Amino acid sequence: MRLVLLGPPGAGKGTQSMRLKEKYHIPQLSTGDMLRAAVEAATPVGLEAKAVMDKGGLVPDATVVGIVADRIGAPDAKTGFILDGFPRTVGQAEALAKMLRAKNMDLDAVIELKVDEAALLARIAQRVKDTLASGGTVRADDNPEAFKARLDAYHAQTAPVSDFYAKQAVLKTVDGMVPADAVTKAIEQMLEGSIRCVGLG
Ligand code: ADP
Repeated sequence: MRLVLLGPPGAGKGTQSMRLKEKYHIPQLSTGDMLRAAVEAATPVGLEAKAVMDKGGLVPDATVVGIVADRIGAPDAKTGFILDGFPRTVGQAEALAKMLRAKNMDLDAVIELKVDEAALLARIAQRVKDTLASGGTVRADDNPEAFKARLDAYHAQTAPVSDFYAKQAVLKTVDGMVPADAVTKAIEQMLEGSIRCVGLG
């Protein structure tokens, strides 16, 4: 199964992808995690990406597309994958389509988590609190300024990606405002075809 999860920062893509990974035994490919690992390891990609990420901007398409192309070519992605945080621009979506076509592959579904934006900042604040409480390290871009930039980037560059997939009739919309378990259930039911998703796009 090959899936894409779309949604604004704080929508719960990471949480849901992790659960889908367990259930379907396919890797979760988070470009955010891959980029953070590159920053941590101070690779050339990481050194280039760090400043942009800290401010909440988008890393150039060519960089991210290169990372994803390598990753989906890995043996563990042969049976499928969940893309979390990619594609984030129409250019990336086009590059992904090209990559998949070359491998004779298709996406099974693009799942968009719909959330009320007023709730997002509160979710990020909670994530910071939980991270600190468990002794973890808070992400450099989990602060109000960078969060606003991430949301702006989402509106300007990622929202059109939903239209791109709606036109291809692979976009499924899920309510991301209900508790995480209910979101998981809705996604699983949708994937198992037991409910029809209304309101594409
Ligand atoms: P979130 O969805 O919470 O904003 P991510 O972990 O997906 O967080 O991404 C963190 C940052 O990594 C983004 O703000 C951006 O700078 C960079 N990034 C991740 N994925 C992409 C992508 N596909 N294209 C460009 N930049 C990306």
